[in-house]
Amino acid sequence: MPAPEPQFDEIYREVILDHFRRPRNRGSLPGAPVHVEGLNPTCGDEVRLDIDIDDGRLADVRFDGAGCSISIASASMLTDRLKGATLDESEAVASAFKAMLLENAQPAPELGDLEALQGVAKFPVRIKCAILSWNVLQEGLTKARTAAAGG
Ligand code: ZN
Repeated sequence: MPAPEPQFDEIYREVILDHFRRPRNRGSLPGAPVHVEGLNPTCGDEVRLDIDIDDGRLADVRFDGAGCSISIASASMLTDRLKGATLDESEAVASAFKAMLLENAQPAPELGDLEALQGVAKFPVRIKCAILSWNVLQEGLTKARTAAAGG
């Protein structure tokens, strides 16, 4: 059973629920070079990311999975934010996002709409829901770099 939904400020709740109900870039990229997935057993969230890399950029990013509103919204916002970004930029956004939730850092400007998830930091049990797709992304970025290096 998913944990109960935390209460957020209204405007943030709207953003999160919008991405949960109408996830962006949901699906798969069978021909993409990077496929990564992860699980958050404490809530039952599952996320898979397919990443197409072109010229050092995330040419396309799709996610699929099942889970609570926070895990799905976070994955949807991730794809929205990082489509077209470079590997370095993606890594920077992932670091800033995790710092916001794990170290209570102020949201960095490059986070954009992802700031809506800052409220999750007040609910420690749900932080894993929000960062699941970002951990999966970082694994994917590592794979992309390894592939680019011919490894
Ligand atoms: Zn969850």
